[in-house]
Amino acid sequence: MKLRKRYRILKALPAVALFLALILVYAAALRYPAAETMGNADRPTLVIDPGHGGIDGGALAFDGTKESNINLEIGLKLRELAKFCGYDFFMTREDDSRRTDILSYSEHEDLVHRTELINSVPHGVLISIHQNFFPTSQPSGAQVLYAPGEESRRFGELTHGELISLLQPENRRVAVPAPKELYITSKVNCPAILVECGFLSNPSDLSRLKEDDYQTQIALVLNHSFLEYTSDKTYT
Ligand SMILES: [Zn+2]
Repeated sequence: MKLRKRYRILKALPAVALFLALILVYAAALRYPAAETMGNADRPTLVIDPGHGGIDGGALAFDGTKESNINLEIGLKLRELAKFCGYDFFMTREDDSRRTDILSYSEHEDLVHRTELINSVPHGVLISIHQNFFPTSQPSGAQVLYAPGEESRRFGELTHGELISLLQPENRRVAVPAPKELYITSKVNCPAILVECGFLSNPSDLSRLKEDDYQTQIALVLNHSFLEYTSDKTYT
């Protein structure tokens, strides 16, 4: 009985922590300017990049779930939190309407275009949202990859730590430098991370990643880590 009680308390811990994070979001929102002052050049701008889209669905789960759709759902939820908190944000895509022509589509051109968009944002801080995939179903859990440079490393480790402590206490992965072959993290000139939220090849990750509530929880964590990372940043 006692053990079960303790287990229940342990099970509730991530939810409690998330609730505390939400309070921090509200507190941080008070520190930020109201919506009408958005666009100030002296403040960081969150650049939300929902990976893939259009003809490029990204990874495909065994049940037909497209990575690009989950990336977009999480990205749109993060956009709503950005609006709520009143900080500047920019999205590389807000729907699936572009890059739909299979004949003219080029993945490289898409990445070049996204990178140009990202680099055009003053004082950008990039979160590129993706889902992982592995040939076997065993690997699971989120992992943050960060771009070269101290700022990206700091942002990446912070975000990874919050994803684990708030949502996945059983996750033993660590934040790692993004491989050089990853185009966006290699080419952007702002602090940048790529968040692999989970594995579409793992049934348990997949069912959670499809849940609206879990997508919101991930967006809450990303929102909070952006606020925390930028809390001491002004560019005047
Ligand atoms: Zn991807």
